[in-house]
Amino acid sequence: MSKQIAFYVEQKHCMGCSACQIACKDKHNLPLGQNFRQIHAYEGGDFTISGNVVYQNTYAYWIPVSCNHCVDAPCIAVCPSKAIFKRQEDGLVLINEKSCIGCRRCFAVCPYQAPQFDAANGKMKKCDFCQDLLQQGTAPACVSACPMRVLGYGELSELQKKYGDTSWVKGLPNTAKIKPAWVLVPHRDAVDV
Ligand code: SF4
Ligand code: SF4
Repeated sequence: MSKQIAFYVEQKHCMGCSACQIACKDKHNLPLGQNFRQIHAYEGGDFTISGNVVYQNTYAYWIPVSCNHCVDAPCIAVCPSKAIFKRQEDGLVLINEKSCIGCRRCFAVCPYQAPQFDAANGKMKKCDFCQDLLQQGTAPACVSACPMRVLGYGELSELQKKYGDTSWVKGLPNTAKIKPAWVLVPHRDAVDV
C-alpha cells in the first residue's frame, strides 16, 4: 500500500471535553456551526429493581471524529468538479477550494459528515490534518490539545502493527468498504462481545 497518514484514537480515554474540537476551530478560524472535529456521545444499557435496590448496568462514552482521509474515499468519486483528491505522498484527502462548486455531494456521501459547507464563500472545507503544522514536524492542533492524550497520528500500517486494526465502534456508521485511515482503541462498552 502507498503511504497513508492516519489518526490514532484511544477512544476508551476520551472524556468528551471538546478541547480537540475547540483547538481545531481556533486553528482553522471556523465560525459557529462549523466543526472539522466532532465529539459524538453514545450511551446505553439498562437497570433492574429488586425490592428497594436498583441494579444499574449503564454506560456512556465519547468518540472524537474528523475526516479520516479514507483509503477508498467515496467523496472523491462523487465530486463532479474533481475538487477532492488524494495526495500521493501521504494519502491525505484534500479539497481544492478553487475547483469546489459547493454542491455538497461529498457531505452527503461521507459517513462521518466531515466536509463542512462554508456559506461565506459557497465552498466545502474539512480537516486537512493541519498539513502546515505537519510540514514543520508539529502534531495537528487536535492532537496537541487533548489533555487525555487520546489522539495521535502516524503511518497507518505502523499504527495498525502497534495497536491493531479496529476502525469501528458501536455508535459509528459501518465504514468497512471505504477503509477510514484511523486506528481506534475502543472503550470496553463500545465493542460487541
Ligand atoms: S471521512 Fe468523509 S470526507 Fe474524509 S475522506 Fe472519508 S469520505 Fe471523504
Ligand atoms: S480533547 Fe481528548 S478527551 Fe477531550 S474530547 Fe477531544 S479526544 Fe476526548
